[in-house]
Amino acid sequence: MSKSEIFDSELFVQLSAGLPRQGPGSTEATRRAFSMVEGLPARPKLLDIGCGPGAQTIDLARATGGEIIALDNRQRFLDEMLARALKAGVSSQIKPVCLSMFEMDFSDASFDLIWSEAAIYIMGFAAGLSACRRFLKPGGSIVVSELSWLIDDPPAAARDYWAQNYPAMQSFDANRKIAADAGYEDIKTFVLPAADWWANYYEPGEARLDEVRACHASEPEAVALLDDIRREYDLFRAHSDAYGYVFYVMRKPA
Ligand code: SAM
Repeated sequence: MSKSEIFDSELFVQLSAGLPRQGPGSTEATRRAFSMVEGLPARPKLLDIGCGPGAQTIDLARATGGEIIALDNRQRFLDEMLARALKAGVSSQIKPVCLSMFEMDFSDASFDLIWSEAAIYIMGFAAGLSACRRFLKPGGSIVVSELSWLIDDPPAAARDYWAQNYPAMQSFDANRKIAADAGYEDIKTFVLPAADWWANYYEPGEARLDEVRACHASEPEAVALLDDIRREYDLFRAHSDAYGYVFYVMRKPA
């Protein structure tokens, strides 16, 4: 099965439906990154790429008072996002768009701020930053969180796991250079605290994993897939000092 087929399999839907987030993050981190963005107008136009169930979309709607296009290629996540936005009283600010990020065709200079938490890796960090640049107004900002090496010589267990699962992962410094080469300036960064991985993503995921594994205990293929997901949790437990999600906040020159 390809990664995309796994993501759309019934098993993965059982694992992911209704969870607070589909990637590491927190309201505090979204707000912190937003506080580093400068020069936005009063009601900015935003694009949230790979919005998933919309935790950060809702935080951004509250923080900016702006209009947000929330883009994801899975309608089930957009439905979750909209239900949550309705409950939060911010749905009028959010327009869901079910589309692949590879097919984005917005007009040039459409957005004051482009945001993507734990999703730009799908296009690739460099390709994603380059593709987004023309959609930003001059002086507009882009904020992405991206899995990055935090130390020069990561332990073999972490290197081997990510060589299989995200071979394009770069160091913090390499990503800063990639961002500058893609035509961005004023690049600011911070590392998402490890606690934010657990509270909003790994802990709810791990609890769900136990339930789903019990239902599929007699299916060797499903058990192998579920055990591989558990390896990711165990790896982070042991090596969260070696890699992490880094927020990159940067601006297209005015
Ligand atoms: N930003 C959300 C969060 O942090 O909770 C979701 C992050 S999740 C790791 C990645 C998201 O990207 C998923 O919602 C998935 O459906 C979406 N996605 C995957 N491939 C995509 C594509 N080609 N175009 C648009 N969205 C995609």
